Amino acid sequence: LPTLHDVFLARSAIRPLAHETELRRSSPLSAYTGRDLYLKLENRQRTGSFKIRGAANRLLSLTPEERTRGVVTVSTGNHGRAVAYAARHLGMRAVICVPELVLPHKVAAIRALDAEVIVAGRTQDDAEQLALDLSAAQGLTLVSPFDDPQVIAGQGTIALELLDVLPDIATVIVPLSGGGLIGGIALALKSVSSRIHVVGVSMERGPAMYDSLLAGHPVPVEEEPTLADSLIGGIGLDNRYTFPLVQKYVDEVVLVNEDEIAAAMVYAVQREQMLVEGGGAVGLAMVLAGKATPLSAPMAVVISGGNVDKQIVVKLIAGAGRETL
Ligand SMILES: *Cc1c(COP(=O)(O)O)cnc(C)c1O
Repeated sequence: LPTLHDVFLARSAIRPLAHETELRRSSPLSAYTGRDLYLKLENRQRTGSFKIRGAANRLLSLTPEERTRGVVTVSTGNHGRAVAYAARHLGMRAVICVPELVLPHKVAAIRALDAEVIVAGRTQDDAEQLALDLSAAQGLTLVSPFDDPQVIAGQGTIALELLDVLPDIATVIVPLSGGGLIGGIALALKSVSSRIHVVGVSMERGPAMYDSLLAGHPVPVEEEPTLADSLIGGIGLDNRYTFPLVQKYVDEVVLVNEDEIAAAMVYAVQREQMLVEGGGAVGLAMVLAGKATPLSAPMAVVISGGNVDKQIVVKLIAGAGRETL
């Protein structure tokens, strides 16, 4: 498993590609919860999500030969965009395999970074099979969106930034899908203090890590359309790193429903003046739904991404069209 040292190494390695994001105190949410509450703004990160941290750290660790051949990955959007961005920065070839459920604006953003995008099959698993085949046939290095020590260490750099600003931080609330983000953050925080409480938040529709924790081993999930599109997908039945990390370091996992996610996205625009995608808003959704009251302060909620089609948010604000998503 990756270590706290790996997270420090990642921090200095990724400086040219990812920037430190603002940690902003939310007055409305501090008043609402009666606790000091901060937002970590990864929606303002380069490429619009935290994924650049892990992707940059992974690509920077490739050997010169691997760099020459290029990389392949499977992504529901944000990881693909981050890999494409880092690959362009390093002058490398990148092939991004995406499942059909991926939103068109995310594919457009990846293509705009000169990466090759292949839409492959209905599910993340189908896209992953194609990525494996391409990796074998063309010698491309497969870059996992979450189950990779370098990726996990890259995402963990968020924890170091939190501790810089709030050394007495007591609770961190983190969106959770494959577990690279929360795995890296929890690993770093718990290595510093076992008393920092780490909460994962997933959507009710297909919460792969939640189901796997209950089962005691990785289990497959049914992929369903959800506002939290960046959280869709399984954790991999052959998961090696994130499942044990989450089992070991994450204190609890909470689920939110589609209405709660929608309310959080609308709240973000109206009260915090920012666009947050559904997957990035699940932590906010948990707080707004009143599921965070017993947690101690200061608290930070990771706003993990902002790559949302504005039309979706407009529809949510109008209170219409939610059922068609
Ligand atoms: C990928 C992603 C997540 C989940 O990260 P994992 O490492 O898969 O748990 C959360 N929010 C956004 C916006 C993402 O793109």
